[in-house]
Amino acid sequence: MTDTDTTTPGNAARFRSDVTVELVKHSAADSDVLWAARVSTAGEQSLDELAKDPERSRGLINYLMRDRHGSPFEHNSMTFFVSAPIFVFREFMRHRVGWSYNEESGRYRELQPVFYVPGADRRLVQQGRPGKYEFVEGTAEQHELAAKAMEESYRQAYATYQEMLAAGIAREVARAVLPVGLFSSMYATCNARSLMHFLSLRTQHEQATVPSFPQREIEMVGERMEQLWAGLMPLTHAAYNANGRVAP
Ligand SMILES: Cc1cc2nc3c(=O)[nH]c(=O)nc-3n(C[C@H](O)[C@H](O)[C@H](O)COP(=O)(O)OP(=O)(O)OC[C@H]3O[C@@H](n4cnc5c(N)ncnc54)[C@H](O)[C@@H]3O)c2cc1C
Repeated sequence: MTDTDTTTPGNAARFRSDVTVELVKHSAADSDVLWAARVSTAGEQSLDELAKDPERSRGLINYLMRDRHGSPFEHNSMTFFVSAPIFVFREFMRHRVGWSYNEESGRYRELQPVFYVPGADRRLVQQGRPGKYEFVEGTAEQHELAAKAMEESYRQAYATYQEMLAAGIAREVARAVLPVGLFSSMYATCNARSLMHFLSLRTQHEQATVPSFPQREIEMVGERMEQLWAGLMPLTHAAYNANGRVAP
């Protein structure tokens, strides 16, 4: 991850190649899945049974995942703070089911000049035809060109934005000149089931039985979310992988 500050007088642009994902609030554990599943057979007593037999718990979670009994995976909650380019948010907010979003406003506050520039490890060149292409490393010249062109363009756009604000033009109008490489921030709340569906589409993984081909930058967000979720619900995460990363 790179995080380069390049400040110029009067136009303090900041260029980032990484994303921020923090788990700010959660109520999520494997026991939530077990509790929800066992209520159907053990009724009100089911909470007492959870810790008694770990192997049985693992087996039950795996069975629910394998046979796609999805609703027991909904009784939990994770709220993430995400800071990423707007083009990532455009893709992210297509995920409608089991997700809640609140994003910073470009109407109520002045947007900060933080912009995305691909890092050295970002594959720059697309080869093949739509639906069947791959990304390969770019040359040093291509990386240099991308960084230079983007930074110049970002600086120009932000200077125009500030010029309009200084002239008294409303933030909600002036923001139209800003590019999708501008960083935004949001809170995103989901449960394990909706997160699994998101991860199945927005990450690539060797255990996935249905491969997806996400843009790298949203995948970076997904990978970090997955890491945080796996720490909270290790049995559920393991069952997800073992069953081909198909959301139940
Ligand atoms: C690699 C990739 C490329 C993409 N390219 C494009 C693109 O070029 N253009 C574009 O517009 N989008 C594109 N998308 C977005 C994609 O079409 C989906 O909008 C996005 O992945 C969210 O998936 P979803 O609808 O399954 O998720 P959610 O909205 O969270 O829905 C979850 C599930 O609920 C059910 N559901 C939700 N709403 C409905 C409904 N109205 N009717 C019936 N069932 C529903 C479906 O089973 C759905 O899978 C792309 C996504 C990926 C991963």
